[in-house]
This record gives sequence, structure tokens and C-alpha cells, in this order.
Amino acid sequence: MLDPADAKPFAVVAEGDGRDADAAIDAARRAFDEGPWRHTPAAERSALLRRVADLLVRDRERLGLLESRDAGKTLEEGRVDIDCVADAFRYFADLVVGEGGGRVVDAGSDDIHSVVVHEPVGVCAMITPWNYPLLQASWKIAPALAAGNTFVVKPSEITPLTTIAVVELLQEAGLPDGVANIVTGPGHTVGARLAEHPAVDLVSFTGGLISGIKVAQAAAVTVKKVALELGGKNPNVVFADACATEEGFDTAVDQALNAAFIHSGQVCSAGGRLIIEESVRERFVAELARRAGKIRLGRGTEDGVECGPLVSEQQREKTEAYVASALAEGAVLRSGGKRPEPSEERPATGYFYEPTVLDQCHREMKVVREEVFGPVLTVETFRTEDEAVALANDTEYGLAGGVWTSDAGRARRVAARLRHGTIWINDFHPYLPQAEWGGFGKSGVGRELGPTGLDEYRESKHVYQNLAPQPVRWFAG
Ligand code: NAD
Repeated sequence: MLDPADAKPFAVVAEGDGRDADAAIDAARRAFDEGPWRHTPAAERSALLRRVADLLVRDRERLGLLESRDAGKTLEEGRVDIDCVADAFRYFADLVVGEGGGRVVDAGSDDIHSVVVHEPVGVCAMITPWNYPLLQASWKIAPALAAGNTFVVKPSEITPLTTIAVVELLQEAGLPDGVANIVTGPGHTVGARLAEHPAVDLVSFTGGLISGIKVAQAAAVTVKKVALELGGKNPNVVFADACATEEGFDTAVDQALNAAFIHSGQVCSAGGRLIIEESVRERFVAELARRAGKIRLGRGTEDGVECGPLVSEQQREKTEAYVASALAEGAVLRSGGKRPEPSEERPATGYFYEPTVLDQCHREMKVVREEVFGPVLTVETFRTEDEAVALANDTEYGLAGGVWTSDAGRARRVAARLRHGTIWINDFHPYLPQAEWGGFGKSGVGRELGPTGLDEYRESKHVYQNLAPQPVRWFAG
């Protein structure tokens, strides 16, 4: 593994292949078909998830540091990620014991007992990305275990370290052998095998659109259940009324920076598209650019650093290509747009890129239509509410969007019209484990978190029992 802050190796991880995937799937299959986990009472499964949450709290510093070095994020972000992972385990622990054991259905007769019960899906394959390595894995692992499944997880080949660590914690917490399995390695070998293998019942994928389509195609051959959490091109709509007071203006600018540049913009829900009312554009963008230029870039583990490097040279080059295409298409550079000068906290070999603000953008530009996954904020303007909604919905994705306004009616109206899976009003980025996460359009299929996030990992079974069976006499003979 390379540290993105200096491109030096700092860990070595085995590269698995399709045969390793087969072995892991066999182990998961045996553990599901013959092992105790699926028959373990929900209360015991819940208790195990709580033990895992406690172990995560115990190891918060170690895991937060590992996440920071592996993914290039700041240490504080790494620590917050681990807190969120523990929250996910606690949430699904509570959910699975809080819901009783099935739903009785009124079949219209006292002689019929009809009940819908939930059962685990079986062997779950999980394929995860590099930007929130453990958080994304936990949104799959915690509900899958809560529901009584076994699984094979394949973390991103770029950032596998914390997922390896959490599988060790599952063992320490007492999970039976074969329930949790991990295979490290590339997507086109290990990931592809997991998606196509006939003994896998469900594949849950978080990553880019192109890989997601390949996973769905491979999974279709054996009619697996498929959950896809894909990319986003997320609008942050700012109405002038949100900026009417100095305090409102300052908050909206501050949050627009946060929306676009946290984790160097490598966030599926990054608010990389600022859509702002014409009358406040100039003042807003000037302040945004001024503050973007002051963001302290450096190694995530250094004190005071606000933004780490991009995860890889490939990701930086991709970002540079988007900025170049935007400038060629007429965008105006207001801040950033280049690699920073090296410094003590920013080695020359690290994959750093300055937070970049591109003004005068429009919806036909490649940088506005495609997910950059880097620290790039584009600015588009509108004059009317209808125009704002049309711009915000003009994307093939539909993961998340923000609306800034002091008019409560407008906030509700616009939120209702936006075709995105999460809408933030006067905020950006928070999520809750209790609330479903996922996207409209090409942002994906299915939902993680919330009750739906548990249901993804369960089959519903209707059991209809006739307590007084009689002949039907449909056939005369
Ligand atoms: P990626 O698609 O390159 O890789 C994701 C995972 O898929 C990796 O583990 C990779 O090895 C594997 N993979 C690649 N090709 C595969 C194939 N043919 N078959 C099976 N597996 C394959 O994505 P990435 O660059 O790691 O992550 C960034 C993307 O993830 C962005 O598009 C981002 O928006 C998305 N993302 C979405 C969410 C969400 O909640 N919707 C969250 C985080 C990241």
C-alpha cells in the first residue's frame, strides 16, 4: 500500500485471485448451510454486533490512523469514520431485536394462520470503494450479520487495511468460523468472481457507475439479488434569501466549502455543483474562492491540516483533466486549478491538488455532467425557483442535494421536486443510520441504512397454514 501523502509504501497486502474468491465463497456457503449463525437468536446476534461496536471504540485511534494513512484523509476524519462505523453496528443491533418475529396477516378466516417471516438471504458478496473504506463496508456487514447471513467482503485494492482489521474484530467478538470472509485483490478478478459465482445469493456493491454496471450484468446470469450504491453529481442550491444576513451568508459559504472539499471532494455525495441565485453570485463566489485558497493542504496525520492528498496519482490526473476540459469549454478559474507547492507537511511526491473553484459553468460542460471525485467546485446560476430545480435535476445521477433558503415554504417545495435520494435543507452531508441512504437514477439500486437497509439482506417468506383443511372440489372427478 502506498501512503498518498508521499507515495511511499507503508504496508503489504496479499493479492488474492479468483481461486481465493472461490475458497471464501465455499467457506461462507458451508457456514450458512450447516453452521449455527442463521439459527442464532436475534438477541444473540444483536449482542455480538454490540461487542463489535465496543471493540471499534477501544481501537478507535489505531483504526482512525490506519484509515487516514490508507485513504489520505485527515486523522480527525479517520476517527469520525470509526465512530460512524460503531454507530452502524449499534443501529442494526437495536433494529434486529426491536421488531418482533414476523407479521400476522388477516386471511379472512379463524381457520387460517398466515404469517410473513424474514429469513437471511444466504451468502452475501460485498464489494467496496476506497473513499470511505470501512464505513461503506460496515453499512453492508452490520445488517448482513444482524439478519443472519454469511459473507465475503472484497475491499478496494487501494485501501483494504481497516476492512481486514474489522474482520479480525468480528472473530475477537466471537463470530462463528466461516461467517465472515475477506478476499483482497483487484476488481476484475476477485470482484468479478464474487459477482458471477452461482453460490452467492446477493451482491452488494459500492463504487463507480461503470464497475457497478459490470457487477449487475455478471450477477444477472444467476439472478442474484443486487444492491448498487454508485456515484453522484450533487447540486447545492443557494437562494439569495439564505444570504440576506451576514450570518446566513457566512454559513452558506462555509457549508458550500464543506460540501465540495471535505476529503478533497472524494465523496459520493460531494456538493460539487454550486447552483446559486444570480443576484448573490459575485459576492458569494468571491468569498468562496478566498476561503478555498486558504485551505491548509498536507499529510492527513499532521496537526492543523484541513485537507489531505487525493488517493492516487490516477485520481489526481483525472481531476486535472476535468479542470483542463472545463477551462477549454469557457469556465473561469477563481481559485486553485493546480498542484500546490511542496512543503514540509506536503511532500513533493504526494498526490496533492488545490481546492478549485470554477465560475461561469453551464450544464453542457463535462465537468458539470460527470463525477470528478476531486476538489473541484463548479458554479452555475439561476434567476427563478423553477430554473434552480431544473438545473439541480439535470443529472443522470440522483444521490443527494442541498437547498439553502430562509423561506420554509420554498424549502419544502424545492425538496419535494428534487429527484435525489437525500435532500439537505440548510445543511450538507449529515446522514443518520436510521435514515435510508441511496440514489435515484444512475446513483444506484436499493438502499443502505434504515429499516430498508436491513431488509436488503432478508427474504420475506409467507407461511399460510390451514387449520381445518377441506377438499376444494375444483375438479369434478
Ligand atoms: P470502483 O468502481 O473503481 O471500485 C469499487 C470496487 O469495485 C473496488 O473494490 C473495485 O476493486 C471493485 N471493482 C472494480 N471493477 C469491478 C468489476 N468488474 N467487478 C467487480 N468488482 C469490481 O470505485 P472506486 O473508485 O473505488 O470508488 C469511487 C466510486 O464509488 C465513486 O463513483 C463514488 O461515487 C462511489 N461511491 C458511492 C457511494 C454511495 O454511497 N453511493 C459511497 C462511496 C463511493
